[in-house]
Amino acid sequence: MISDVINLSEIKKVDPVFGQLSFDNHEQVVFCNDKDTGLKAIIGIHNTVLGPALGGTRMWQYNNEWEALNDALRLSRGMTFKAAITGLNLGGGKAVIIGDAKTQKTPELMKRFGEFVHSLSGKYITAEDVGMETADMDLVREVTPYVTGISESKGGAGNPSPITAYGVFMGMKAAAKYKFGTDILEDKKVFVQGIGHVGESLVEHLVNEGAHVVIADINEERLQDVSKKYGASIYRGDDIYSESMDIYAPCALGATVNDDTVYKIKAQVIAGAANNQLATEERHGLILQERGIVYAPDFLINAGGIINVYAELEGYDKQEIIRKTENIYNTTLEILSNAETNEITANHAALNIAKNRIETRKKENSK
Ligand code: NAD
Repeated sequence: MISDVINLSEIKKVDPVFGQLSFDNHEQVVFCNDKDTGLKAIIGIHNTVLGPALGGTRMWQYNNEWEALNDALRLSRGMTFKAAITGLNLGGGKAVIIGDAKTQKTPELMKRFGEFVHSLSGKYITAEDVGMETADMDLVREVTPYVTGISESKGGAGNPSPITAYGVFMGMKAAAKYKFGTDILEDKKVFVQGIGHVGESLVEHLVNEGAHVVIADINEERLQDVSKKYGASIYRGDDIYSESMDIYAPCALGATVNDDTVYKIKAQVIAGAANNQLATEERHGLILQERGIVYAPDFLINAGGIINVYAELEGYDKQEIIRKTENIYNTTLEILSNAETNEITANHAALNIAKNRIETRKKENSK
């Protein structure tokens, strides 16, 4: 008997794609493989009612393919609602490349990935995410026009991260206003978890405002650099959530508000750049609300980056980008009071508005 015979009854227990918990009526999921460059990628296209699905590409060393698929599904769904609530005519998509960006990312691999993006004829437009640089998008641009976040010298809007950080700062200020009655962050103790492209820029805004900033990262070199540059304190413990702080800013990866952390969190406000901060949206959002912790929905306040790359498609200027990003302050305040009035979580309130916009457009499109 052959040992690797597939046991069908096992396989049927969880359907591989449509049966995943994170599958939410995604329109298309594309698996990309190229033996020569070692490329293994998954492109998730969640919804294209409002426009082409735009979302960054993440390169990450996932433990297994399920994790990668789950990330592509969750992240692409988040992009749909981010674009919708920000008032952009874009759908939601996201790509993940399985591998270590430091050692496995080559120009050939990026271009091959670009060819896969191109094969979708514009239904998906890529950009940068974790593990990607503007230079990588420039490589993708060599083989397809369906890419944003390319260098300013090549006609793009450049690295979206500083604008993302500015939007997060605006959302954080609004959440602080809601919780503390003032949006001035001077002397507030803010923990920034993840000081990469966005996190570092956020640290700069916070330090300029006089906040007491504490930084955490798994990259020791970055900790040293950012601490030296801005005078931020370094956190070296292994339980950041139990630390006493005013504001927690998750700027690394998602799902840090989960069953293990949600009851420990001492912060009174959560506002950060990471996508999908709530491991389970409704459940963890509700627990935060019951504990009196104000949560600024991630897909609402980290939209600066998508506003920046959208400018590349629509051709609007830096001033308009800044104006739209500053508006995140007003939208966050509106969502927080909407949630209170309707006795729902802030995440739920933001999702309702985003979903209504998509439904309205869907009806208009079918007329
Ligand atoms: P990045 O890769 O530049 O930075 C991520 C940082 O997090 C790195 O310094 C990394 O070492 C650190 N990190 C990873 N795991 C960690 C852990 N367990 N604890 C502490 N630090 C850890 O990524 P980025 O572009 O700054 O994006 C950060 C987050 O914001 C991501 O979730 C991304 O999806 C989201 N986001 C980014 C943008 C953008 O414009 N770049 C836009 C919207 C959302």
